[in-house]
Amino acid sequence: MSLMTKRRKIFRLAAAFLAVCCLIASVCFSAPQVSADEELEDLQKQYEELEKEIEKNQSELNEVQGDIKDNKSKLKTLNNEIDSINSQISILNSRIDALNNDISEIEGKIASTNDEISEMNDNIALVEKQIDETHNYMEDTKNMLLGRIRENYMAGESSTVEMLFTSDDLSTYFAREELMMRVSENDAALIEELSKKIDELNQLEDKLDAQKVKLEEKKASLESEKADLDARKVDLKDSKSTEQSKKKQVTGKQQEVQEIINDLDKDSDEYKAAIKKAQAEKEILSRQIDEYIREHGSTVGDTPDSSYGNDGKMAWPVKFESYITAGYPSYSDGSPHWGIDICAVGGNTRGRPFNAAQGGEVIIAVNDSNWNYGFGNYCVIDHGDGTQTLYAHSDNIKVSVGQVVQKGQEIGIIGATGNVTGPHLHFEVRVKNADGSVSRVQPLNYVSNPYN
Ligand SMILES: [Zn+2]
Repeated sequence: MSLMTKRRKIFRLAAAFLAVCCLIASVCFSAPQVSADEELEDLQKQYEELEKEIEKNQSELNEVQGDIKDNKSKLKTLNNEIDSINSQISILNSRIDALNNDISEIEGKIASTNDEISEMNDNIALVEKQIDETHNYMEDTKNMLLGRIRENYMAGESSTVEMLFTSDDLSTYFAREELMMRVSENDAALIEELSKKIDELNQLEDKLDAQKVKLEEKKASLESEKADLDARKVDLKDSKSTEQSKKKQVTGKQQEVQEIINDLDKDSDEYKAAIKKAQAEKEILSRQIDEYIREHGSTVGDTPDSSYGNDGKMAWPVKFESYITAGYPSYSDGSPHWGIDICAVGGNTRGRPFNAAQGGEVIIAVNDSNWNYGFGNYCVIDHGDGTQTLYAHSDNIKVSVGQVVQKGQEIGIIGATGNVTGPHLHFEVRVKNADGSVSRVQPLNYVSNPYN
């Protein structure tokens, strides 16, 4: 063997080795299993992070909502306090109003009493004037009579005349019979009349004085009553201003609590928005399976591979008596649910097998017990006619990517992996439309429970 030949042989071996390497590499990299696993694993990580973020925000939100509830009950207490203060103030106001009425009534009475007193003073002044006038008239009459007596009796009885001159009390004096005899009958009558009139006027003045005293007593009593009312009014106004300052204080507290509630509401809105955003992102991520189907799945109108055994009619995916615990397209709380949940009648769902609803090729098979969008262990079978079925929460997926399965073939064991509250089979049907879009459709349009 020449050197040349030897070299050529080594080259051939190397070329053959390289070709094998390329083949292995091409098998490894083109196989959907490898790219799917890497792609999906990354998406699942993102998905789990979003779920953690949502959970964190939800717990913050719960805390904030608890605080809001506490503060609202504080606010309610303060509102009640203000209500009771307001009713206290309105009671005080009506009492003050009533007092004001009483006071103005008394003030009216005092004013009219003052009028009466001043009228009385006028009357008294009038009577006093009349008394003065009568006195003057009597004085004149007395002088006139004295003049006459002086003329008639100048000669004798100077003692009587003396008496007349010195006596102030004419009526007493003239009452004496002996004197009466010395004056004419007319004069006597006049003196009598005047004396009577002065008596009457004096009596009238006494009466008026007595009435005036009574009026002044009445006025004094009204004024003391008014002073009492004024004092009560001052007390009520003090009480009212106490209540008003209390109200001001409570209103201040109320505003503080309201501000706290407003802040908490803002926080709550922010957490809700963050949750909503993460949920939307999560939704987009969970759509990545659709993206995968878009790339790898069959399209409506395609003819299934003959090896799939697709007979055109899907079967119920379990072979035991079963029922639906949650339906499509939402849970009872309104959150989305794109499949149906199937449980065994009488319990013991976990560990039972589930089966391919239709023949096809496995395009996704994940058995790592990770969260996987909440699906846990799951697989997707493409049926070659544009429909795909998804089976989730399995304890063990028994098929692998690229494997062709027949309708009714056992493909896994029902479990409780991923987002579950108990073991069940989550079953979805997806359709890849001619325009490339993927719809998650009502599974009951494709399968029906034979055990119903
Ligand atoms: Zn479900």
